[in-house]
Order: sequence, then C-alpha cells, then structure tokens
Amino acid sequence: MRVTVDQEKCVGSGQCVLSAEKVFDQRDEDGIVVLLDPEPPADQHDDVRQAAIVCPAMAIDLVE
Ligand code: SF4
Repeated sequence: MRVTVDQEKCVGSGQCVLSAEKVFDQRDEDGIVVLLDPEPPADQHDDVRQAAIVCPAMAIDLVE
C-alpha cells in the first residue's frame, strides 16, 4: 500500500489521526495532516483505509 496526502485539501479535522495514529499526524500550528509512513505495514492497512473513508476533505489517496 502506498499512501499520499494532499495538504492543500486538508481541513485539519484530525479524523485520520483518530483512525490511524501510526500513519498520520497533524502539524502543531494549524492541524494540517502530516504523513508519518507512506508505506505502512499490513497490520495498518485497515486503519488507513478507514482514515481515507472518514476524511471529510478526501485528502488521503491510497494505491493498493
Ligand atoms: S482527516 Fe482529512 S481533513 Fe482531517 S486532518 Fe486528516 S487529512 Fe486532513
């Protein structure tokens, strides 16, 4: 799995961090998403898929 995020689309809601805290973080100053792991291990994939689904800005893109 390959993960990318679009920081221009991100509205800083933090849903991704709640779903997959090992893969996503937020910038302290404005809450914009920070990608911690662009190629997460298999045990993270379900959480990352959930993060992409719940992101209100559709700022998370996955290539399986
Ligand atoms: S869920 Fe989407 S909009 Fe919210 S912080 Fe994560 S990437 Fe940004």
